[in-house]
Amino acid sequence: MNAYENAMEQLNKAARVINLDPNIHELLRYPERFVTVAVPVKMDDGNIKVFTGYRSQFNNALGPYKGGIRYHSNVSEDEVKALSFWMMVKCATVNIPMGGGKGGIIVNPKELSEGELERMSRSYIQKIWRLIGSDKDVPAPDVYTTPQIMGWMRDEYEKLVGHADPGVITGKPIEQGGSEGRGFSTAQGGVYCTRELVNKLGWKPEETKIAVQGFGNAGGFMAKILATNGYKIVAVSDSQGGIVNMDGLDLDQVENHKKETGSVIGFSGTQNITNEELLELEVDILIPAALEGVITKENVRNIKARAIVELANGPTSPEADEILKEKKIPLVPDVLANAGGVTVSYFEWEQNVKGEHWTEKEVLEKLEKIMVTSFEEVWETKEKYGIDMRTAAFVKAIERVAEKMKNRGSI
Ligand code: NAD
Repeated sequence: MNAYENAMEQLNKAARVINLDPNIHELLRYPERFVTVAVPVKMDDGNIKVFTGYRSQFNNALGPYKGGIRYHSNVSEDEVKALSFWMMVKCATVNIPMGGGKGGIIVNPKELSEGELERMSRSYIQKIWRLIGSDKDVPAPDVYTTPQIMGWMRDEYEKLVGHADPGVITGKPIEQGGSEGRGFSTAQGGVYCTRELVNKLGWKPEETKIAVQGFGNAGGFMAKILATNGYKIVAVSDSQGGIVNMDGLDLDQVENHKKETGSVIGFSGTQNITNEELLELEVDILIPAALEGVITKENVRNIKARAIVELANGPTSPEADEILKEKKIPLVPDVLANAGGVTVSYFEWEQNVKGEHWTEKEVLEKLEKIMVTSFEEVWETKEKYGIDMRTAAFVKAIERVAEKMKNRGSI
């Protein structure tokens, strides 16, 4: 199954639970608009090279389309469509007034010079500027796109439209209208979800052993914030492998070790393990925070964690999902657990359109309220229908989108 077929399967599953109106179901099978653009770039050697770019605008019933732009050689039409569908679900799960969008360029950005990267980013905006804007479609960073790239894109957009519109794009540097707290918002949202889950299960933070796969922006911050809140982080990993100490890790020291050596492995007082072994540790909570597709039908039966919080996007295959449900292992799905990122992106947009700048304290208070309410709603939906939390999040999201589509007469 490719990503889009997988997304449609998840849609069908939620639709069956709520007996979704077949006309709404039909509309939700397709992005409202999908564009393919040629992105010409004058390379440093003077020759022109043309890259392929996409923008998918899945659904804007709840608000302007919202979703990142990915620079990767594996970007494909199906992937961009699926990611834009999942953005619709994510925004609707946490009930923010944004729709689902996504974009991408087929490119290995590591092969471009900084100048080529800037010219490619500006060229992409020259092709899609009529379709975006703070009231239409609001892109953001994704894999291999950075605050600096968002800054170039906003600049190009404003030159083309001839007026300021800082809310056209989020994930900007703070001095260009970015939000406080955006850097660790995904992790912080995941921490709020973990806390709510631990409360529901009647566990105590200091007795909760956690393994985190991935020590980057999402996983690194999440591990550190959880440790500060009293949880016992016993294992972490990066692309080179992982480390474990069942008595707990000193994460500041682990971070220093990674800065010095380039990896967490080899940190004193710990045992080196592979990324596959990390997934199968006897812990209370497993947090996949690196890649997609790591929990599969091949390894799911070896998983000993008592609960899973998905900080990465798409870490669990649909077959593995079914087996986890059978094994009664609660799983907080990506569309909820990592929605702190898009929520603070929405805060950035709101600050930009209102001309405000909120403090980090204000941002975190608002984020906590949204994450806690959403967790509770998904939990209640799971109980109401006797379904897993992923299907519950999809049900909640599709109900919201369907209601808006009906109200405004889309069918
Ligand atoms: P990142 O590049 O900052 O970090 C990725 C981490 O994964 C690094 O520690 C890297 O060493 C590790 N890694 C790479 N290959 C690995 C492998 N084979 N096995 C184990 N670890 C490996 O990326 P990130 O922003 O932290 O994103 C991680 C995940 O979280 C992705 O799935 C991303 O889509 C998702 N996510 C991130 C955000 C965000 O705001 N950063 C928001 C939503 C979802």
